[in-house]
Amino acid sequence: MDRYVTTPPPRLEIRNLRRAFDGRPVVDDISFAIQPGQVTCLLGPSGCGKSTTLRMIAGVEMQDSGEIYVDGQLVCDTVFRLPPERREIGLMFQDFALFPHLSVADNVAFGLKKASKAEKRARVEELLARVDLMRFIDGFPHQLSGGEQQRVALARALAPRPKIMLMDEPFSGLDNRLRDGIRDETLNILKEENTAVLLVTHEPEEAMRMADEIALMRDGRIVQQGAPYNVYTRPVDRAAVAFFSDTN
Ligand code: ADP
Ligand code: MG
Repeated sequence: MDRYVTTPPPRLEIRNLRRAFDGRPVVDDISFAIQPGQVTCLLGPSGCGKSTTLRMIAGVEMQDSGEIYVDGQLVCDTVFRLPPERREIGLMFQDFALFPHLSVADNVAFGLKKASKAEKRARVEELLARVDLMRFIDGFPHQLSGGEQQRVALARALAPRPKIMLMDEPFSGLDNRLRDGIRDETLNILKEENTAVLLVTHEPEEAMRMADEIALMRDGRIVQQGAPYNVYTRPVDRAAVAFFSDTN
């Protein structure tokens, strides 16, 4: 009898995603896939459609056409749409958006709706230990520095064990001094959890540092995709050269 080797489907796959605003295409036929534990970086200048792509995957923006799959299961096309809270996706943004009136522990526990009190506490302690903030467990967001708030936001996003983490310029608001350390720490934790990560940034240096794969975007399209070293050393055109040498 024949034996079949079946490869599992990607953790996240988007196919031919499109979105126009007022007749202007902003996301113009985007496709890519991300495996568990892989960091893919959508890299491109401001206004090229990165956040809109991420928002469609999160389910807070609707595509005009195209499909989104998680573990091979259809999550969203133009007919069917799984609500955002059922997509097993974690989110992190530039503004950490912690709830100011909730303690650090309650912020982290926020997404753990169904868990028992003891389960919530155990997960909160595990994650706060991981981001080295156990001492703030009963503190409030305003008592924390920007970097510390960002680590709480990471713990909160990871608490429900999302399959996918979507990160939109999460490090842009941080001091240069802190940024490298927090990037590395975040990356280590996401790798340990085997989360598939889509990181959005306009900074080539951040993409080079964090990505397993870079998808270079321009005017709503992916113009080049590959390992950071390859994208950097073999730019697809002059505009790509200019983009990589422009910033910083
Ligand atoms: P990026 O994240 O790469 O900076 P965005 O996806 O935020 O880009 O935006 C891409 C383009 O789409 C921009 O020109 C922006 O002004 C436009 N845009 C985004 N959201 C809307 C909206 N809700 N209505 C109209 N235009 C929008
Ligand atoms: Mg954006």
